Amino acid sequence: MLKFWITNTFFIAGYVLLFYYHDQYDISYWWGLPWMLLYSLIYFAGSYFIGLNYHVKSLNRLRTKEKKIVLTFDDGPLPESERVVEMLNKHGVKAVFFLIGKNIEGREHFMQQLKEHGHQMGNHSFSHRVAFDFWPSAQVEADIVQCQQLLEKYCDTKFFRPPFGVTNPKIRRAINRLGLRSIGWNVRSYDTSIRDLDKLQQRILKQLKPGAIILLHDRLTYMPELLDQLIPEIRRRGYSFSLLDK
Ligand SMILES: [Zn+2]
Repeated sequence: MLKFWITNTFFIAGYVLLFYYHDQYDISYWWGLPWMLLYSLIYFAGSYFIGLNYHVKSLNRLRTKEKKIVLTFDDGPLPESERVVEMLNKHGVKAVFFLIGKNIEGREHFMQQLKEHGHQMGNHSFSHRVAFDFWPSAQVEADIVQCQQLLEKYCDTKFFRPPFGVTNPKIRRAINRLGLRSIGWNVRSYDTSIRDLDKLQQRILKQLKPGAIILLHDRLTYMPELLDQLIPEIRRRGYSFSLLDK
């Protein structure tokens, strides 16, 4: 948030200087265009890369030097999520699930199981629509509240992961008003695009570091198989699995 306002101030100052000095130093007003383009690029990068903490300060890693990591799964609960949880339970691993509100209906039993097995839950919006980032503030907030109300039947969570990891000032206002905490990641697996399990596993293992928060998706049919290989490999490297501090 601070970064967003610093950038705004800096760019407005640029326009003020251009306005005052364009005569004196013969600077063309056309310089306003690349200046605007640069501002837009920074804005979009800040919105897209949650780790930059541009609009919202997110928790992108655990503050620890110990070899602890967190597995996070987005977009459930879906039928595929059940096998993911079975696999985690088989290996004795607890993880964090960022759930989409509209997927919860009809999967109440699964939600109960998540709770009973000690996994953590977080809000991933009700609709997870692409248009979410363009909606007016009130609609963004209502969508987040709708998911939160469903989650409250199972847990008392303050964790929120923005759909697509995209943030903007409207999301910042909504989560501040609702007292939610944005959770990002610092290991992006690209599990939705890399289908080769060995490659995917290598990509994740290469990025392991103390406090890592790993982004995964429980809607993928190959996720249980990946976890079956990945979890022992992570442990072999001396890492243990942790949850988020409340
Ligand atoms: Zn998502």
